[in-house]
Amino acid sequence: MTKPKVVIVGGGFGGIFTALDVAGSADVTLVSEADHFLFTPMLYEYLSGEVEAWHIAPRYDELLEDNVRVVQSYATSIDLAEQTVSVPSYEKVLNYDVLILAVGGITNYVGVEGAQQFSMPFRKLGHADDLRRRMIETLDRIPPDMPPQDVRREVTFAVVGAGASGCELSTKIADLLTDSFQRRALHGEPRVLVIEMGDRVVPGMGDQIREFVEDALRESRVEVHTKTRVVKVSSDGITFEHEGNQETLKTAGVVWTGGVKMNPLIEQLDVEKNNRGLLIVKPTLQLSQYVNVFALGDIALYPDATPTLAGTAQLAFQQASLCGRNVKAYLEGKELHTKHFEELGEAISLGTERAAVLTGGKAFGGALARQARFALYTSRLPTWHHRLRVGASWFFEGTQMKPI
Ligand SMILES: Cc1cc2nc3c(=O)[nH]c(=O)nc-3n(C[C@H](O)[C@H](O)[C@H](O)COP(=O)(O)OP(=O)(O)OC[C@H]3O[C@@H](n4cnc5c(N)ncnc54)[C@H](O)[C@@H]3O)c2cc1C
Repeated sequence: MTKPKVVIVGGGFGGIFTALDVAGSADVTLVSEADHFLFTPMLYEYLSGEVEAWHIAPRYDELLEDNVRVVQSYATSIDLAEQTVSVPSYEKVLNYDVLILAVGGITNYVGVEGAQQFSMPFRKLGHADDLRRRMIETLDRIPPDMPPQDVRREVTFAVVGAGASGCELSTKIADLLTDSFQRRALHGEPRVLVIEMGDRVVPGMGDQIREFVEDALRESRVEVHTKTRVVKVSSDGITFEHEGNQETLKTAGVVWTGGVKMNPLIEQLDVEKNNRGLLIVKPTLQLSQYVNVFALGDIALYPDATPTLAGTAQLAFQQASLCGRNVKAYLEGKELHTKHFEELGEAISLGTERAAVLTGGKAFGGALARQARFALYTSRLPTWHHRLRVGASWFFEGTQMKPI
């Protein structure tokens, strides 16, 4: 008897954890543009060298067994009526009986002049590699006798967006640069800015965590510019506006963490969406017009989740277990399940020495929180085998940053 065909598009949090769940129960194909999963919450630690690529970006062939076929390619279109997915590197279209959409979002430059061309995104391993290289090249150009004010101008990095991502990234960049100033005996200090349109940092997080974030930004000497709008990014500078006044700064790098927008693959689909283009899914994660299509993670609007969970790995991770369970039930003709998703707590890395964690309504920070975050994230990595290898590596070999 031929097994039903399940095609999963996207191998991030939603896709890989669903694939691990449904593997073996159908003829499963995972389509992903990369050859690895990425544990995005630790991309900052990869930038600083506290973790290595294999820890947070295991290859699919290490995680999945032979019962999941991986097609490494970018899916370009989906025909929901014909039940096919087009992937350019593949000679035929992929037919499916059940489709799981988990393609996540993409960087949103919100139409700011020069932003897409000149600023650096921060969503993938390659982006972190590019940023680290840019920091090293910048430092390599500074002669040891350069006066402090010139050094500061030459070593200016701006991070756009002071959400969790922007704060984690700016403190990490600042700590890395400060450390390298000492090692290289450069005069003065680097300049790192975080620029935010809203009136506060980490607007999506509670006040308890915000206090730790603000302290860390101060300790890492990150300049915080709230109520400030970026109007232009160029090859060597950034222009922003605060209370009607515009200022242009020379920059060695601008990193864009200012938002996420809908994946173009999903934009093409003529199905029910909200005003932000998110797929409106039923509490079973199915599309209402196509019950053999499931969607989860950053592209889906789920009706029964705590609102602060929207657009988080936590939500995609939790949804994946419901998705896996429901796909199996669907294939067996059984009743599908629904679930309410709650916030599991918050954890944020703050520079290379500390973090902040909110759990059970209590927040704590510092080096202990950093350790707790590592422990927590070990438990969230895919597969027992990978968790054990990574946990052992972090325990025995340590998690110190690699200087630039
Ligand atoms: C730097 C960073 C840090 C983050 N930190 C946190 C955090 O600390 N806590 C938290 O809860 N959330 C965090 N997030 C958010 C979290 O990563 C996302 O909410 C989560 O990954 C969403 O899961 P997903 O499965 O929807 O998409 P993703 O995990 O983004 O996976 C989508 C996958 O689909 C692939 N893909 C996209 N389009 C196609 C296509 N057409 N064909 C084939 N493959 C495709 C992508 O390459 C990617 O591998 C962070 C995000 C980033 C970028």
